[in-house]
Parts: sequence; structure tokens; C-alpha cells
Amino acid sequence: MVEKNKHYNIEITDVSSDGNGVGQIDGFTVFVPMTVTGDVVEIVVVKVLSRYAIGRMLNIITPSPMRKTPDCPVFKRCGGCHLQHIKYENQLEIKRSFIEAAMQRIGGFDGFKCDEIIGMEKPERYRNKCIFPIGTDKSGETVSGFYAKRSHEIIPVDDCMAGLEINGKIVNAVKEYMAEVNIKPYDETRHKGLVRRVFVRDGRNSGEIMVVVSVNGKNIPKREVLIKKLREVSENIVSIFINVNEKRTNNVLGEENKLIFGKPEIEDTLCGINFRISPHSFYQINPVMTEKLYDKALEYAEITENDKVLDVYCGIGTISLAASKTAKHVTGIEIVEQAVRDAKKNAENNGIKNTEFFADSAENAVPKLIESGMRPDVVIIDPPRKGSDEATLKAIASAEPKRIVYVSCNASTLARDAKFLAELGYVPTKCTGVDMFPHTSHIEVVSCFEQLK
Ligand code: SAH
Repeated sequence: MVEKNKHYNIEITDVSSDGNGVGQIDGFTVFVPMTVTGDVVEIVVVKVLSRYAIGRMLNIITPSPMRKTPDCPVFKRCGGCHLQHIKYENQLEIKRSFIEAAMQRIGGFDGFKCDEIIGMEKPERYRNKCIFPIGTDKSGETVSGFYAKRSHEIIPVDDCMAGLEINGKIVNAVKEYMAEVNIKPYDETRHKGLVRRVFVRDGRNSGEIMVVVSVNGKNIPKREVLIKKLREVSENIVSIFINVNEKRTNNVLGEENKLIFGKPEIEDTLCGINFRISPHSFYQINPVMTEKLYDKALEYAEITENDKVLDVYCGIGTISLAASKTAKHVTGIEIVEQAVRDAKKNAENNGIKNTEFFADSAENAVPKLIESGMRPDVVIIDPPRKGSDEATLKAIASAEPKRIVYVSCNASTLARDAKFLAELGYVPTKCTGVDMFPHTSHIEVVSCFEQLK
């Protein structure tokens, strides 16, 4: 019997897909955050449930050869990069094993192998979008940083290594402005105070930066002071917004944005295509690895000049536009209307004429298009975490494309859908991971499905 509050020495034998070390006490599974395969650790059991327990590491008795000292000073308290205690090459191997385990256990593909994960050359400062909550600490000081794990306590951080170094200076400029004009941070328990969050987005290839200050109000006093301070940080800050966020919610941004300086959009290029990004646009957060992801997806897709391509869950059309360079025609389907408007505009701005985009759900649009006679040669799907659905997959398979390239941010739902595709005659023939989110347990998977002959 595993007992709460009791101390145990255990060996960690695996890492779970959410990034926790896994060990056993008398055959009973225990999850221990911040440990890794090969560690021998002393733990205290903090929770016992019917099928597993949760432990907290007290001491490392023998460190795993995979272990390294985390670079980030707030690693233990911030909920962000929870694999930082693992050497990067081992993180990639662990993520490959997540994919293989999911495809074997959930997908039922015995002995399934995934190619080596494509890792990031310099796995740091990769995020092009960062959000910093602003609040007050116990002494009444204005602080900014990150929420602690599963809580709304703000952990002060001046420099988060996932984003650009300049972000810290931008947040400081906002705090200086707040001090100078005497405005208070938002207090979520009392629903009072003004400044809630600072949202920073950068176009990695253009260098342009957008700053959005989210406030519990319709405006801010003396906005010229804020603009001046931000522009002193960098002239690359070419777009400054106030975001009206007056509701009691956890939403990062409210619906309304007010441009107070510069341009309404920043620019960036991906795979040689120019994109304009506004505060609410969906845009992949690791631009360096996004190019590698799309390159891999297009390599698997093997599109030739006579091919008609269907890109389902197309967002702002990034994959569609990259595919349009080699394809005869590309049709994109996406549920968010604004994203579809962005996709159309992106096509137009880049002079791309062989694409069309529809705002509709995949489960509604894809069966209709196929029934009306559409016969895509290649289908690319990139669904959200919950994966695709049977109606969409059935319709795709019934059109008998040469290939289906599935891009997934969740190996478990990919494996479930892969099993269904196999029942429809399409089996996974190639698979690899692209590490879009270094130091987190997330992994993007690209796989190719072809018809069983
Ligand atoms: N391929 C794009 C976006 C991938 S994210 C890129 O690489 O940038 C998944 C997209 O699926 C999101 O844009 C989301 O809005 C969209 N989506 C979610 N549910 C959907 C559904 N049922 N039908 C169509 N699109 C959906």
C-alpha cells in the first residue's frame, strides 16, 4: 500500500506524455514531476488515487545521465518549460517514444517506428508571441511575469528565455509608464485596476514588433507617455494597441483592439510567403520550426504540377499558400471566418491565384465537396488537439487521394484517427516529429498515409 506523506526511494523508468517521470512502488505507478528516466530519487507521496499516485521529489540519490541543470531560474515554479531538466537530445528521444507509444497502443500499429525528431539548432528564444500578466505582489509593488503552475499567482520574471530578450524591456517600459501616470494593475479578485497583460508579437524574419496592452477599461490615460517609452526601447516596435478587456474572464485578450500607434499589422515571411499578422490572428509560435514543419509536410505530400490539393483546417492559409507553388490548385477549409479572410488576403498580397478558401467546419464542408465531385490528389489535414472526426476522414478516404498528410499537435488523437484511416484503407507509411516547442512535452507530428494496395 502506497501511503500519503510517506517517503520512498524510487527509480524513474519512463516519462509520461505530459512530461512527468514515472516510477513504481511495489508495482503501483507513481508520477513524479521534474524527474527523468534513470534517476533514483527520494520522494514524498502527495496524493494517492485508485490507479496511481503523485510524488514530489525531495532528493536526487543518483542522477540520470539524461539530466542537466535547467537554465531558467524559475524552472521549478513556472508552469512553462517543464522538460528543462533533461538534455535537449534526450528530450527529442523521449518525444519520439511518445509518438511511437501512441501509434502502437492507441493506433494498434505493432512495432510502429517514427523517424528521428527534427530538433531546433538553438532551442531557445523561439517564441514569437509572449503574454505577460501584470499584477501586484504582497508588498503592493507592480509585478509582471508568469502564472505559477495551476494558479493565478504571478511569479516575477524579467527575462523569459522562450521569448526575445527585448520582451523584458518592453514589459518594464509598460511598468514605468504605469508608475509615472499612476495607474494600477488589474486585480482579478476585486475586478478593479487597469492593466491586465502585455502581449508581444514579433515577425522573426521582418524584425517588426507589435505590443498590445490589455486593459480593464476602454482607454488609458496619457497614451503618449506609453508610446514614447516603448519607442525608446526599440524603433522596431511599429504597432501598438490597447485591447479592451473589461470582462471577468481568463481570456488573454478582449474582442476590441484600438490602434494607438503605427500599423494595424506586422509582417513576416514563412517559406518565402509574406504574411500580415494582427493581434487576433492565429500564427504558429515557433517560426524557425514552422518552416521545417511545412517543408516536411510538403516533402511527404510530393505535390506535382497537375495535383489538386485539399488543405483541411487551414488556419490563415500558411500550408495552402506554400503548397500552391507546386500544385495546380489548392482548396483550404477553416472554421474561423477571420482566418479565412486572412488566408484570402494573404493569397492576394502574394499574387497567388490558384487557391480558394471556405469558412466552414471540416465535418460539414469536406463530405459536401467530395459528394459534389471534388477529387483531390493530395489531402493535407492539420486539425486542432482534439483531432479530426469520422465524417471528415471517411469523406477524404472515399475520394481516394494518392496521399493524406496528417499534421498533428497531439499524438494520441493522431493515433486514434490513424486507426480509423487504416480501417478505411489508408496506412501510415512515413512519420516524423518536429520540435516546435522545445523544453515542453508538446510535439508536432507529420505523417503520411497511403492506400493499401
Ligand atoms: N494549418 C494551419 C492551422 C492549424 S491549427 C497552420 O499551420 O497555421 C488548426 C486549425 O483548425 C485552427 O485554425 C482552427 O480554427 C481550425 N479548426 C478547428 N476546428 C475546426 C473544424 N471543425 N473544422 C475546420 N477547422 C477547424
